[in-house]
Formats: sequence, structure tokens, C-alpha cells
Amino acid sequence: MSQLLAWAHDTRTPVVPFGGGSGVCRGIEPDGHVVVDLRGLDAIIDVDTKSRLATVQAGVLGPHLERRLQAEGLTLGHEPQSMSISTVGGWIATRACGQLSARYGGIEDLVAGLEAVLPGGRVVRSKTAPRRATGPDVASLMIGSEGTLGIVTEATLRLAPVPTERVSRALLFASMSEGVAACRSLAQSELRPTLVRLYDREDTMILLRHFKDPPGGPLLLVAFDGPRAEERADRAVEMTGATVTDERFAAHWWEHRNDAVAEFRKVMAGEGLLGPHALVDTMEVAGTWTVLRELYHLMKDALGRHADLVGCHLSHVYTDGACLYFTMASACSSDDQRATSSGSGGTPEWKRAWGPAGPSAIITG
Ligand SMILES: Cc1cc2nc3c(=O)[nH]c(=O)nc-3n(C[C@H](O)[C@H](O)[C@H](O)COP(=O)(O)OP(=O)(O)OC[C@H]3O[C@@H](n4cnc5c(N)ncnc54)[C@H](O)[C@@H]3O)c2cc1C
Repeated sequence: MSQLLAWAHDTRTPVVPFGGGSGVCRGIEPDGHVVVDLRGLDAIIDVDTKSRLATVQAGVLGPHLERRLQAEGLTLGHEPQSMSISTVGGWIATRACGQLSARYGGIEDLVAGLEAVLPGGRVVRSKTAPRRATGPDVASLMIGSEGTLGIVTEATLRLAPVPTERVSRALLFASMSEGVAACRSLAQSELRPTLVRLYDREDTMILLRHFKDPPGGPLLLVAFDGPRAEERADRAVEMTGATVTDERFAAHWWEHRNDAVAEFRKVMAGEGLLGPHALVDTMEVAGTWTVLRELYHLMKDALGRHADLVGCHLSHVYTDGACLYFTMASACSSDDQRATSSGSGGTPEWKRAWGPAGPSAIITG
């Protein structure tokens, strides 16, 4: 790697590191560049059960790492939806955040040290230590750098024990405002939830579309790992004042939480409910609790002008705020032109499937 980057530097050849290729910011799109495929760097170098640390090469894919860790009773707890198609180096370069971040943190909390090769070929290390008192720190610079500062070749990651107990609940609210208030009280409580995921009405409809009579939402899924999980889940229900709904909804989420990879492939191949010319995109924003409600409505209004269906779920909660993840979808008349529902000729199959009070009606409600 050092030699390659020294050569690239001397010949002024641009280099693009490529991990799993699941990035959504076009960072891996080559344009006269040398692409460095890191998937061959896939060794798990060491698992230190005493300090709960794993040292791995950057091209290791999520499932490979988790299988090895779970054999030792440990887990990284980092579960992005794209886990099966993304690498440790990619997670670091994109500052990735997994679905269980409320308990296990984002990748920035999990990196204890790393090795990287800088443009020109110099190898730098951020040594593994529970804490560093000096800066700047190479690891902090590399996290979120999208491959612009160098190539991450190795990382040491913090682990947690595989939870002996995990309890989930599905809860219903009358409005998003109530749901958001509940998420805030959970995030700021001592209950230490693993999962806090609030789906608005459209996203509830998308999530539960295979159920016969799904609730209208907003739907909150919560889960608790570790000691007294049941008691903490009950306390969460009491604290939020929500209505407990069918537990199959939470089980469905756990089972299908990473289906998006296959679903998007199907939709983009024109085989989904949106028909042969589908438009689907996602966008995630973050805000403090003070502005989150307004941010939700502003985003919904703005995106609703460009898509037939806009769904949102709140996830990745913090004491000071949370993320809002929007999914936009339209059935188009061709690959080059977006058609509104009225202009696409006839009722698209996805609208028929979701009934007359279809997504667009709900968006404006
Ligand atoms: C269906 C789907 C679901 C997703 N869900 C999530 C989610 O839940 N959470 C989340 O955070 N993201 C998610 N993503 C986005 C994506 O999976 C993450 O950004 C992931 O971390 C990218 O990892 P990768 O190995 O695929 O990187 P790549 O796509 O290969 O690369 C991404 C960027 O990182 C750089 N890079 C890659 N490897 C290295 C390296 N070793 N050193 C330096 N730079 C490098 C590349 O040059 C590029 O700029 C999702 C994507 C899809 C398609």
C-alpha cells in the first residue's frame, strides 16, 4: 500500500479507496482514478477478550467480523442496515452509525486505534489506548474523511458482551409530537435503550405493508439489552404513556431490518410495487430536540413536493437530539421523467395496494 501511494504521489495519479461499495455519497465513483479494492485485506488479526478489543484489517465485512466475535461471546454492536455489504474501513471513512447506536454508539465511539497510509506512502498509527491526552489524533481525523486523507488499513475496535437478555416492545402514539417527546424522555433517561425507532404514518405503512390490518402509526419500536431488560421495557412504556401494540411488529423489524439491500435492488430493477420506472432515495438529517419537530415538518413539506410518498423515521437518539431518516418514492412514467400520480396514467399498482387513502393523501394530512 505504501509503495502504491508513493507511486501515485510521484505520478500525481488520483487514488480512490473502495471498501464494500455501499456508500451513498458517490465517493467511490472513479473518474480517471486508480481504484484500490480493499476487500482482500480481510484478516481478523486479534481478539483480546480481556480488554474487549478486536484488531482487524480494513476490508473485513460486517458478518465475517460478527461471526468471529460472537464465537467468543462478544459483539461490536455496530449494525448498519448495509452490514453485509460494507467494510470496517468504509464504516470509519463514512463515520457510520448502526441501528443499535443508542446503546453501542457510532463507529467514532468504537474505534480504539487505527493504522492508515497517507498520500506519499507514510504509514501512521493512532495507538490503541483507552484515552489519549494529546491531539490532534490520527484516528479522529480519519473518521468521516471519506478516503480524502489516506487509506485506513487496520483498526482496533471496542467490543461488548453479547446480551443475555433482549426485550422489545411496539408502541403506538396519536401524533408524531407525542412520539418525539417519548423518544426524548427515553434518550435522556437512565434506562439505556438499545433501540429507539419512531416511524411516522407513511413509514409505518411501508414497514408493516405485509401485515393484513397494520396500525396507522406513529409506531415506536424500543428494545433493551442486558440486566433487567424486561423491567426497563415496562418502565419505558409507563414513562412514555404509549399504547402497547402487537409484539409481532417489533419481531418483524428484527427479522427484516436489513432487507433494504435486497428491496432496493428489486425496486431499481423495476420489479417492486412502484413499477418499472421507480424513483427512490433517502436522506438523513440531525437536529436538537428543540428544533426536531419543526425540522420534521419542514423536510416533509419540502420533499413532498418532489415525490409521491415521503416516509420518515426517527432513529439514533442522543441526549441532545436525534436523526430523522426520510425515504422518498415515486412511480415514474419513464427513467428520465418523474410523473406525479395524476400524470402517470391509471392508478399505479402500489397505490391500489395501499388503498384510496394512499400515501400522498396522508402526506398532506
Ligand atoms: C441499503 C443501504 C443501507 C445503508 N445503511 C446504513 C446505515 O444503517 N448506517 C450507515 O451509517 N450507513 C448506511 N449505508 C451507507 C453505507 O453502507 C455506509 O456508508 C458504509 O459505511 C460504507 O462502507 P463501504 O465499505 O461499503 O464503503 P465504500 O462504499 O466502499 O466507500 C465509502 C467511502 O469511504 C471510502 N473508503 C472505503 N474504504 C476506505 C478505507 N479503508 N480507507 C479510507 N477510505 C475508505 C471510499 O473512498 C468512499 O469515499 C447504507 C447503504 C445502503 C446501500
